Amino acid sequence: MQKIAVFGGTFNPIHNGHLHIAEEFAKRLKADKVIFIPANIPPHKQAPDLVPAAKRLEMCRMAAQENRIFQVSDIEIRRGGASYTSETLEQLKLIYPDAELFLLMGEDMFLTLEQWHDPQAIFRLAAVCAAPRSSSKRSRLKSYASHLAEEGAKTFIEDISYLPVSSTMVREAVKAGRNISSLVPKKVERYILENRLYME
Ligand code: ATP
Repeated sequence: MQKIAVFGGTFNPIHNGHLHIAEEFAKRLKADKVIFIPANIPPHKQAPDLVPAAKRLEMCRMAAQENRIFQVSDIEIRRGGASYTSETLEQLKLIYPDAELFLLMGEDMFLTLEQWHDPQAIFRLAAVCAAPRSSSKRSRLKSYASHLAEEGAKTFIEDISYLPVSSTMVREAVKAGRNISSLVPKKVERYILENRLYME
């Protein structure tokens, strides 16, 4: 059965931390593809300095060129409104009826999963895969995973080394005029600078 890893995020902008966990999970799950899905409007978090969806999508497409199994989907942007993962997974299940879906996320998102829109639908449609975003949190992730298992979720907690990069860090570096070449792929860096994103 085809294994598809689904990685949703605000991707404002996509950065090397995202690519690192996508690559590591893809290897460990033996995924056939990873689909990055930028949110139209992220319902789970405050989004300061949010650049238009089309630009976040474009940067994801550039970053996805780094690995041949990486793809980018605009389904959340085309659907419009708030981007609910349960609806995205329902749509993907129709597009790939025979695939096994794995939903990738970092620790911060994983620990709030029960507050998302329709978590039961998420658990029914995909296995949830999380990686710690700080070294101390592994046991917390594991205990939350056991709790979710009681709710019917299938979870994978993987000890993927944490690459200390966030979109906030990228935006702040750009604003301060610092170099971002160690934080994002080359093409994304060029795109940010050429389009003067995150500068004010
Ligand atoms: P911001 O700094 O604006 O809050 P972010 O860096 O958290 O953004 P998002 O696009 O909001 O990026 O994150 C999408 C997903 O990627 C989330 O599940 C988040 O936990 C995960 N993630 C982001 N950065 C990392 C990282 N360095 N390592 C592991 N997971 C990460």
